[in-house]
Amino acid sequence: MTTHDVFNQSTPLEGVNLFKANRPLQDALHTWAPQLDTTALATIGQEAGSQELQQHARLANTHTPQLHTHDRFGRRADEVEFHPSYHALMARALHHGLHGTPWSEGPGAHVRRAAAFMLFTEAEPSVLCPVSMSYAVTPALRANPALHAAWGPKLAATAYDSRFIPMPGKTAVTMGMGMTEKQGGSDVRANTTRAEPDGSDVWGERYRITGHKWFFSAPMCDAFLILAQTPAGLSCFFLPRWLPDGTLNAIRIQRLKHKLGNHANASSEVEFESALAWRVGDEGRGIPQILAMGALTRLDCALGTAGLMRQALSLALHHTTQRRAFGKALIEQPLMKNVLADLALESEAATALAMRLAVAVDRSEHARDEHETVMRRLLTPVAKFWVCKRGSHFAQEAMECLGGNGYVEAAGEGVMARIYREMPLNSIWEGAGNIMALDLLRALRGADVAAALERECGPARGAHPALDALLAQVLHEVDGGTDEAEGRALARRVALLLQAALLRRQSPPAVFAAFCDTRIAQASDVFGLLRHGHDLDSIVQRSLPLET
Ligand SMILES: Cc1cc2nc3c(=O)[nH]c(=O)nc-3n(C[C@H](O)[C@H](O)[C@H](O)COP(=O)(O)OP(=O)(O)OC[C@H]3O[C@@H](n4cnc5c(N)ncnc54)[C@H](O)[C@@H]3O)c2cc1C
Repeated sequence: MTTHDVFNQSTPLEGVNLFKANRPLQDALHTWAPQLDTTALATIGQEAGSQELQQHARLANTHTPQLHTHDRFGRRADEVEFHPSYHALMARALHHGLHGTPWSEGPGAHVRRAAAFMLFTEAEPSVLCPVSMSYAVTPALRANPALHAAWGPKLAATAYDSRFIPMPGKTAVTMGMGMTEKQGGSDVRANTTRAEPDGSDVWGERYRITGHKWFFSAPMCDAFLILAQTPAGLSCFFLPRWLPDGTLNAIRIQRLKHKLGNHANASSEVEFESALAWRVGDEGRGIPQILAMGALTRLDCALGTAGLMRQALSLALHHTTQRRAFGKALIEQPLMKNVLADLALESEAATALAMRLAVAVDRSEHARDEHETVMRRLLTPVAKFWVCKRGSHFAQEAMECLGGNGYVEAAGEGVMARIYREMPLNSIWEGAGNIMALDLLRALRGADVAAALERECGPARGAHPALDALLAQVLHEVDGGTDEAEGRALARRVALLLQAALLRRQSPPAVFAAFCDTRIAQASDVFGLLRHGHDLDSIVQRSLPLET
């Protein structure tokens, strides 16, 4: 034996069709969208699980974006340069229509796109920031029909164009959003950026914007929706990078953030020096206007986290299948099997909740269905809060399954460490946990949530005593008014109730029973607390990253 024989180390997880291997996702689609043609999802699953995309993800995260504030002659450039792998990933995401494409398609398009978004997250989540914002912007942009007519088609176009040139010359465009300022992100009413009227033209009422944004992600997007103050209050504006006369708009990128994770994506701090923008929606109605966008990026936070959980679970299962300790594959050690089964339950429940929200978005867009509209309003804060909140905890445990290797990046090859650094982001941006809990309380005041929950969860009555008790408790609470300080507790209960009802409907009985026992009947604070009698083998088997 030489000194460098390597044995009992696992291999990279690659060459797996991430869609065909994902039974929980397939079962969710089968239950909620049985007519959906999943051919495209199988293609995306193949690509997202390929060695090629993994290599692009590694390179895009290792060779991080570089800001060029000026050119060599001293003129403002305000350009961010990305590694070619970033552009390759963006091109794949747009090719598959993960941005604005569903808005020009028929029923089912948002569900298909949601599943595709989850799968693509397993390849690389940080490029999906501009992709998600470009998806989410359409309903808000419609409030300015001229802008929507001019920009909408290119927001849906699938031929990515990385060039930093004005919109008319580009094959496709992307959009971002700017709300957060130094003095306040959750409380955007504190925004100080000013908008002063500057006439009107074919895009509507024009304004001069002066101020700053403290977080301004993906600054190489072609345009942004931003908030700024007018005499009538906070209003929403369309701010393009290039002006219609072909000159650069006065958006000054000050610096890029040094972030914990999300390294392939650029997040910047910007100042606006009398930049030109066009109003979207009414003056003084900026917050509801931009929240039409924020609600959809919140959907993507839940989908993205469910995708990352699935990826972390697959890595843990793959590793423990290959790695041996104390005479057995780790996956065969009873305690490890317990941890893996518990992670599989969490991952499946996250997938179910996030996909149910996507179904509600799709159905309420196309059919004006009252129940689905209420479910969309309810599920947006609940899924964003709960799925994202569970993400970091999940990633830590999945990482531990890999032992020390889980903690090591190895020049970007250690995917688990990247997942761990990415996880907290979905919980913070687009409204952190408390903000989601407060939004849930607002949702209770505006709709008959009890009736919607009864319709959604009532059919699961009798399937598990813990679920019955939780349903009764939640129905009482949503009708009775909840104290603000208990917002998180309620959000957690609503999430668990809905997850249990979904698992009852779309998952095997072993998954449903174990979920109710460990999440509702008892409140597990660490993974791996399943008891004797739970069918660990079938739960783990169902989630193995093998094609079925
Ligand atoms: C990598 C990254 C990229 C981002 N990109 C963008 C972007 O492109 N555009 C953009 O506009 N923003 C962006 N953000 C900003 C993000 O949306 C905000 O950071 C987030 O909304 C929180 O705002 P804040 O940082 O000002 O924190 P604060 O608003 O100060 O909140 C701090 C904490 O207080 C809690 N809190 C606030 N109010 C209450 C209350 N009433 N009751 C109880 N708790 C409360 C919050 O939940 C949070 O936990 C980005 C953030 C990150 C990390």
